[in-house]
Amino acid sequence: MEEKLSLQEWIDLAEQENKGFGDFCIEFQVKELEIDKATLLGRMEEMLDVMEQSVEIGLTGITSMGGLVGGNGKKIEAYRTESPDKSIVGSVMSKAIMIALAIGEANASMGRIVAAPTAGASGTLPAVLFSLAEARGFSKLELAKALVVAGVIGMVIASRASLSGAAGGCQAECGSAAAMAAGAAVELYGGNPRQVGQGVALTLKNMLGLVCDPVAGLVEVPCVKRNAGAAAQAMVAAEMALAGISSVIPVDEVIDAMAAVGNAMSCTLKETAQGGLAVSPTGVAVANHLFAKVEPEKK
Ligand code: SF4
Repeated sequence: MEEKLSLQEWIDLAEQENKGFGDFCIEFQVKELEIDKATLLGRMEEMLDVMEQSVEIGLTGITSMGGLVGGNGKKIEAYRTESPDKSIVGSVMSKAIMIALAIGEANASMGRIVAAPTAGASGTLPAVLFSLAEARGFSKLELAKALVVAGVIGMVIASRASLSGAAGGCQAECGSAAAMAAGAAVELYGGNPRQVGQGVALTLKNMLGLVCDPVAGLVEVPCVKRNAGAAAQAMVAAEMALAGISSVIPVDEVIDAMAAVGNAMSCTLKETAQGGLAVSPTGVAVANHLFAKVEPEKK
């Protein structure tokens, strides 16, 4: 059995060494990956470039392989730019929604994305990073550093629980992506290591139990829109953490609880398309319709 990593241990170490969590994570990864800091951050910047290109792909209004999603990133971009006074959530969150949808749609159309941590959840982290960057003018280097923090958080979750919908439900995919994004957001806003951990804990607590129920087994419905919700959860948690609000349950224990919930979850709710929205009357009808179209080609 692989060693369980501890986010709390690393938070404590960073605080003892009087380091920001971003600097701590960079030093850790430089040692772990045996590369220099410039190379590490350069790789992160390349990933940021791919994420930006994914947004562009989504904003063309592309339609997914199964035809269930597409054009919604473009729709919200038009809404937020043409009627900003009508936005309920404000410009930062509406930008995050747009990015999450656009990247989810790019992924569902076989466009290039960065799995962060998975393809299905690839819209969440860039949605948070890029919307905050626009609001506060964060540099690419600052975003790269935040991406390293997100990666370390993902590593810990992978070691204690899972990042896969098939193993742990959507809490493990969109939940983990949101937790990574919350930690990255707290780092970007100058939060201390403890607050980064609180951002992670608060996010996962709010997403515990989320099932994986893709209609027709395609990473389209509910996946794409779920990324927008996950980005919102990340921002809510990061805001609470930055305000000094703590999770009663420590971060490693929250991750362990997510693992236990995932293990207890029925297989019908873990990417098998046999439960949840996938077996709603409409979900079944959509699947039947799609499979009826595909079957003749197989013969
Ligand atoms: S519902 Fe399942 S396939 Fe879709 S994003 Fe969530 S974990 Fe991934």
